[in-house]
Amino acid sequence: KNDRESMMIVNSFAQKSFSMNLLQHKQGMAIGMSYLRERGFRDDIIKKFQLGFCLEEWDAFSKQAINSGYKKEYLVKTGLSIDKENRLLDRFRGRVIFPIHGIAGRVIAFGGRILKTDVKTAKYLNSPESEVYHKSRILYGIYQAKKSIVQNDKCFLVEGYTDVLSLHQAGIENVVASSGTALTPDQIRLIKRFTNHVTIIYDGDAAGIKASLRGIDLVLEQEVNVKVLLLPEGEDPDSFSRTMGASDLMQYIEQNESDFIVFKTNLLLKEAEDDPVKRANLILDIVRSIAIIPDAIVRSVYVKECSAILNVDERILYTEINKIIHKKK
Ligand code: ATP
Ligand code: MN
Ligand code: MN
Ligand code: MN
Repeated sequence: KNDRESMMIVNSFAQKSFSMNLLQHKQGMAIGMSYLRERGFRDDIIKKFQLGFCLEEWDAFSKQAINSGYKKEYLVKTGLSIDKENRLLDRFRGRVIFPIHGIAGRVIAFGGRILKTDVKTAKYLNSPESEVYHKSRILYGIYQAKKSIVQNDKCFLVEGYTDVLSLHQAGIENVVASSGTALTPDQIRLIKRFTNHVTIIYDGDAAGIKASLRGIDLVLEQEVNVKVLLLPEGEDPDSFSRTMGASDLMQYIEQNESDFIVFKTNLLLKEAEDDPVKRANLILDIVRSIAIIPDAIVRSVYVKECSAILNVDERILYTEINKIIHKKK
């Protein structure tokens, strides 16, 4: 529909305007660019991801857009402007801008980060859902990553914008982010257009571990192979990638990413210790994940692996798995 096209055109204008601010505007350079520099982002990465800055004034962008002939209707529909008592305000004012590209490379939405985290407002702000932006169907970085995902036949899945940027900066380009929202089946299907292998690298905190466990089952459901890399406590891919050189990072990932069975078992074993009831629950938990896998042959590989790690007879595991599968039908 024509609305969609008009919204994309406004987004494209906004992206260019925000980029200009960051690269050439006095305030944008002094605030936005110095922030990105302080975090260690290189020029080529800033350019590749078309980062920008929205000026601190209440309505600098909205005014510029209106003066350039863009309609209020589409500024509001894209969420770039907020209509407040008939005055247009800039949604992203004072934020560093991360454009979100569709799979074909057009800008469909924006993420914006405040610079001072002491301010009492959300650290990140996103464009609202719209005809062009369905956040459950897109992954940040997919446009910049798709070629590398195919070449490597593998996709890294991280939580945040800056995780994607930093991995690119370290030469790892097959990476996308779920941008803080819970992973969805549509997002996995998007990855599946390019590869059947996903490695989840979420933040090394309780939330990240929980999200990884949820992510595992979702990915398995889509018949995609899943590995997990657990980062040291308190690190995320962005911070962790800065503690070592690019080749050490690649090596670390290769050596420490583990099959979902191993990840889940080790994690749950730590919690269960020697408690037999907890151990039984752990086994059931893993069995549940295996039962999600649609393909029987793939399931049997995991049953073997699981049986070896947990020292449980394969037949017992099959009995439990079959119970779950039949209950579902
Ligand atoms: P940074 O390194 O810039 O602090 P981060 O990516 O490490 O950011 P996290 O708190 O780990 O930030 O969150 C992961 C992702 O979740 C973010 O990149 C962002 O996409 C999303 N997110 C975080 N906080 C919010 C928020 N308040 N509102 C909306 N999305 C958020
Ligand atoms: Mn986190
Ligand atoms: Mn993080
Ligand atoms: Mn971070």
